[in-house]
Amino acid sequence: MFLTSLTDSHDLDRAVTVGDDVLSRAELVDRAGRFAAGIPGDGPVAVHATASIDTVVAVTGAILAGVPVVPVPPDSGPAERGHVLTDSGATAWAGERPDDVDLPVVLPGAQPIGPRPVDPAATAMLLYTSGTTGRPKGAQLSGAAIAAGLDALYEVWDWTPDDTVAHGLPLFHVHGLILGVLGSLRRGSRVVHTVKPQPARYAAVGASMYFGVPTVWNRIVDEPDAARALSRARLLVSGSAPLPASLFDRIAALTGQAPVERYGMTETMITLSAHASGERRAGWVGLPVPGAETCLLPATDDPTDADTVPDDGETVGRLQVRGPMLFDGYLNRPDANDECWAGEGWFRTGDLAVRDAGGFHRIVGRESTDLIKSGGYRIGSGEIEAVLLDHPAVSEVAVVGVPDPDLGQRIVAYVVGDGHDAQVLIDHVAGQLSWHKRPREVVFLDGLPRNPMGKVQKKLLGT
Ligand code: ATP
Ligand code: MG
Repeated sequence: MFLTSLTDSHDLDRAVTVGDDVLSRAELVDRAGRFAAGIPGDGPVAVHATASIDTVVAVTGAILAGVPVVPVPPDSGPAERGHVLTDSGATAWAGERPDDVDLPVVLPGAQPIGPRPVDPAATAMLLYTSGTTGRPKGAQLSGAAIAAGLDALYEVWDWTPDDTVAHGLPLFHVHGLILGVLGSLRRGSRVVHTVKPQPARYAAVGASMYFGVPTVWNRIVDEPDAARALSRARLLVSGSAPLPASLFDRIAALTGQAPVERYGMTETMITLSAHASGERRAGWVGLPVPGAETCLLPATDDPTDADTVPDDGETVGRLQVRGPMLFDGYLNRPDANDECWAGEGWFRTGDLAVRDAGGFHRIVGRESTDLIKSGGYRIGSGEIEAVLLDHPAVSEVAVVGVPDPDLGQRIVAYVVGDGHDAQVLIDHVAGQLSWHKRPREVVFLDGLPRNPMGKVQKKLLGT
């Protein structure tokens, strides 16, 4: 059971806060123990993962009972929920049960049970990917992988039991649930979930570490008073989607400290991060965390290419990672498993990156949507997005390749911002980058389609 400090020590009177609900460690162990006692059988437990203390109790209870947890996004429709429930083989349901679910609801037993002995290699959590590139895939995460992933972060972020983590992120992904909540429970530090990731709520916590996705950081810098209140924190962490360099700079200017950007996936936990005591560089996600290794393979299919790309900070490669924090494969997806494992423990992330001589990494985009093949060239959309974001009239942008009879793919920029002059923006890119990297078309939108983690849903933009 990887939540060691939860049961080792009962002395924290405010271990977990979600909105107005506060539990001490002893109260959480008691409530989670009762939940564990009420779990029928030893199959996976689906948790209706609302932003509530009940979610924390149910997840902790299932971990104490040694059964796999399946967090289900609370805003899922019946089809999405049906996919997760059927795919995971969940045998019980925690929380309010929608009409389309016919699993037995966990009813807390009268007497709490203590942690059951579990094999650290067994699946502790079936966590579904965000579904950015297709249907969400169920990643099988063992207790050992979660523990290794969290321990690496304690080291790189100097995360101690004296820390208080604040966030308001969804409780059904790595970021909010594993790092934010379970990371604090394993470490023995406090966690305050603000229910909504609103700037004023973040500011009111007075935490030492704040977790947010770029959309949240964007809202925070738009409320300078709230942003300035975070200046007392020790670490401002961003992840789940790229943090634009301009936003990095605004956070630094308002709070007096540069944010720490980190990169991870449902399948790998966090593998790259800026270190608390090391360099924090705008647009870059840092170094491998302890135990993680990376390698970059050529992004072209040219057989004469070298085996790996040079660490010159410029050449884009396909990012592979390995380490003890990796998952054990996707559930019921032999196709995806064949595709993602490259041998000797290497996992193909599907992301494109560059690495410099000091081992710092920059994520350039995703192979599936961000590597545009146009007129015989391979072009990373991230590079074009960065140049467009530099233009004062552009506040958000997503660049995609759409099918084109002549070019194979045509570069299209979806832009949110003031002033709607496509030619100005095309000329801006052509003035900064090679001619073939200019968008052929600019589409102006009121907002980009994003999921709750702030990830742009490029599959909805004509890719
Ligand atoms: P699916 O796998 O279902 O298509 P998804 O990949 O968005 O969805 P997640 O596992 O939640 O699901 O997200 C992992 C992805 O998020 C990474 O592969 C990467 O593309 C992106 N990501 C995470 N952190 C960062 C970051 N700091 N900078 C850029 N991209 C990031
Ligand atoms: Mg993915």
